[in-house]
Amino acid sequence: MTIEKSDTDDSQLPAGLSATTEPPSLTLVVPCYNEEKMFSACLSELSFILNDLISQQKIKPGSFILFIDDGSKDDTWKLIKKSSIDKKPVRGLKLSKNQGHQVALMAGLSVVESDICISIDADLQDDTRCIYAMVEKYISGNDIVYGVRNDRSSDSFFKRLSANTFYKFMSYMGVNQVENHADYRLLSKRALDSLLTYKERNIYIRGIVPLLGFPSDKVFYSRAERLAGESKYPLRKMIGLAIEGVTSLTVTPLRIISSLGFITCIMAIMASVYALFEKVQGRTLEGWTSVMISIFFLGGVQLICLGVIGEYIGKIYIETKGRPKYFIEENVGDKEVE
Ligand code: UDP
Ligand code: MG
Repeated sequence: MTIEKSDTDDSQLPAGLSATTEPPSLTLVVPCYNEEKMFSACLSELSFILNDLISQQKIKPGSFILFIDDGSKDDTWKLIKKSSIDKKPVRGLKLSKNQGHQVALMAGLSVVESDICISIDADLQDDTRCIYAMVEKYISGNDIVYGVRNDRSSDSFFKRLSANTFYKFMSYMGVNQVENHADYRLLSKRALDSLLTYKERNIYIRGIVPLLGFPSDKVFYSRAERLAGESKYPLRKMIGLAIEGVTSLTVTPLRIISSLGFITCIMAIMASVYALFEKVQGRTLEGWTSVMISIFFLGGVQLICLGVIGEYIGKIYIETKGRPKYFIEENVGDKEVE
């Protein structure tokens, strides 16, 4: 599926600047999994905002909402199809089976061709009024605008606790992400193109976007309650997402093995001194000292060796991802002079 490209190719220009003075075209990217109860509210709210932005000439007419049906088992796809047939500003993609939010979102982002796109959940928990502020921040020169929740009081105690633990754990593991930002964000065409150069299969979008660089800003909002339907992120999926995030972005767990090895070796030295002291004092059974020393030393040495192997595996892992090394933000002057 292809989506209309704007008349001029502005993808290499800084955010907010287009070769013409035209407003940018916008795609709202909305992954949906079993969202039939939310669909009509979501559609009417998002189309209202789109039309409002078009009438204010902040975005181009023809901007639309792209719904991605992530293998829903209910009537979500029927509703998406119907609204696009009814000539609503809607396009749809249906994944053949449920792949999870991150994959569904990537599927949507990879077909976007508009000047800017904003990803948002279908449940309207993210304040849709931020879309105005995001577009403003793009116009004032930002390529990435993060929607950040500054108030989680509408979340259940359990959701708050698990979300806080999740962010703490991720940052402890060395994943650099914007705290309390999920996947509600604006991306300019060049930021999106850069994101799409990450070809890895296991992708944790929230951890990758901050790696892109480019001018960025945040808009803050308080998270509302889900209007209908239930959360598709139970604890099990949340743990899965955390494991995905950590293992796809850092080799910190492998480093922890090396550190454990060193700590065990230091403990082995102390334990050996103690064991020898006990032997000299004649308070040990025959063979105890040598067994103790070898257990500690071998444990430490093995962990260090595992850590070293881990370092190499980490390198192989990072290399196999074939990640881009850099992105050009601006390029001035005559190319031939370079
Ligand atoms: N979602 C999806 N695939 C999934 C799970 C969720 O596309 O396997 C969508 C869901 O329809 C919603 C968004 O991802 O638009 C966020 O899910 P949810 O609101 O259930 O998560 P929570 O806000 O509870 O973390
Ligand atoms: Mg939600």
